[in-house]
Amino acid sequence: MTATTRTAAPDRVRSLPVLLATEDDAEDMGLLAPDDRLTCHVHGRWIHQCAASPLHVSPVTRHRWCRDCRAPLAVAVDELAVAVSMSCPRCGHGGSAATARLTTACRASLVAERAARYASAV
Ligand SMILES: [Zn+2]
Ligand SMILES: [Zn+2]
Repeated sequence: MTATTRTAAPDRVRSLPVLLATEDDAEDMGLLAPDDRLTCHVHGRWIHQCAASPLHVSPVTRHRWCRDCRAPLAVAVDELAVAVSMSCPRCGHGGSAATARLTTACRASLVAERAARYASAV
């Protein structure tokens, strides 16, 4: 019986469960900052799919939080344009370093999800 050779998927293409586990390990080992994760260990989803959840609002770190208005930022995800934006529904601003990092992670997770979907479709 001949062994079936499988072409290893490129490193960048990982399914959600695989990447979730990989990021959990990397985070535990101190190799990955929670802010840079493309997956969410609380919701078990891609970060752009659950960033709109109230759990991703933090007044302390200012993730999705407008300090001036004391209000959570609204999240807009455009999957086609691979665009993610977060802004305060009251003043239209409310950005912070933490929110910028979350936005960047959401964009990257959009790209990663698309790649994973494409890889599983072929
Ligand atoms: Zn989440
Ligand atoms: Zn505001």
